Amino acid sequence: MSLPEKREDLLELLREQTPKSGKMWEDAQEFVPGGLFSAARKFKPYPFYTDRVEGAYIWDVDENRYIDCCMCFGVQLLGHSSAVVEEALFEQLKRGRIYGTPHALEIAFTKRFIKCVPCAERILLCNSGTEATMQGARIMRAYTGKKKIAKFEGGYHGWHDYAMWSSYLGSEDHGPADCPNPVPDSAGIPDEIKQTILILPLGESAFDLIEKHADELAGVMIEPVIGNGQIPLDKEFLQSLRDITKRLGIPLMYDEVKTGFRLALGGAQEHYGINPDLATYGKIVGGGMPIGVVACSKEIMDSVTKYDFSVSVAGTFSGNPMTLAAGHAILGYLMENQHIYDELKVKGERLRSGFNEFAQSKGLPVSMTGVGSFFQTHMKPLPITKPRDTIDQNTAALYDMQLYLRLNGVHVAWFHDAFISAAHSEQDIEDVLHAHQVSAEAALSLHGVA
Ligand code: PLP
Repeated sequence: MSLPEKREDLLELLREQTPKSGKMWEDAQEFVPGGLFSAARKFKPYPFYTDRVEGAYIWDVDENRYIDCCMCFGVQLLGHSSAVVEEALFEQLKRGRIYGTPHALEIAFTKRFIKCVPCAERILLCNSGTEATMQGARIMRAYTGKKKIAKFEGGYHGWHDYAMWSSYLGSEDHGPADCPNPVPDSAGIPDEIKQTILILPLGESAFDLIEKHADELAGVMIEPVIGNGQIPLDKEFLQSLRDITKRLGIPLMYDEVKTGFRLALGGAQEHYGINPDLATYGKIVGGGMPIGVVACSKEIMDSVTKYDFSVSVAGTFSGNPMTLAAGHAILGYLMENQHIYDELKVKGERLRSGFNEFAQSKGLPVSMTGVGSFFQTHMKPLPITKPRDTIDQNTAALYDMQLYLRLNGVHVAWFHDAFISAAHSEQDIEDVLHAHQVSAEAALSLHGVA
């Protein structure tokens, strides 16, 4: 296909490709702010509306098929509509969707979870990754009696008021690279919450800041593959972070909402061989149903929750049987089929190295980062080792590249947070690679870069 060279032609082609979606988008804007229930679903000229999904593919209401590399932002590790999860859901449906009482799947799910996750001796269940990091932070505060939680610049931990700080690196003043400013990621977050946050740079100077603020730090939280760039942490850096937090008696929490059951069965803890004190989960572990999990040691959890529930544990839908039926089924499948992690790694490496070699051979200022089944495109050459490295990239070209990808039959989120699933065949990976190559070239040329 010859790709349009003017932005207006590109948008017009997408409109022609998705007329029914365009009509739905108009309707939605009458009653939904911006027509969307999540800003992450943003698209130009408007989003496509999904008709159905299966395996590695997603179809819009206009019958266009895309290879899905969003996979619901990393939820669908096995691909869409995996039989093992669907059977468990149909089975549970006959016994009821929601009870509001304890039930056997809570115990069965928990036993499997604890077997897989190195730091987990106790868990709490909730309904999203956002709730999990909120609850994890509350546990750390209750356990230490301190207020401040340190988080890393460019790390995303959900959309609650205590986490939405300096997750995205935009045009605001983020302060010096070795001592970043806390920048709120949303309007409506009380300025007072700034007092409860310490923003750390992803580099050695983080350790000086932790040492300096040790007396007021209730905990440090980090994404082992940092979200704003899908940049895997350097193992030595993570080990130093573990060492300093242990020495100072500050709980370390991994946010494994994305890495959990994706990097390995035991997530980042198994991948790096370095355990945190607490960890939070979501996405994959619910088998496509809404879930959040906080995992930690007996010592921490029992000191704040056992018997008296000094840390409140609640949630109408927490641990509901539909979610746990799906979660129990996917954990069982992954425990017995760990070969998928090696297969995902091979496919991920093919994609990332294929793209990076192409970019280097053509001298294009683009690259892909990631690890295992994670991949993210940047409008900058390698090396990219921290979110700050992407701050001056050509974001307009990056967002337009996503439009060219759609014309080439590949779906990724507008910020290119992308994933491979076990359902992607080798041919799918070749198609995704080719689409990324031609789309990067087209987007760069549209923006006068190459
Ligand atoms: N933490 C991380 C690392 C995430 O990637 C996300 C979501 O993408 C969240 C927390 C929030 O999870 P949820 O969207 O389920 O609230």
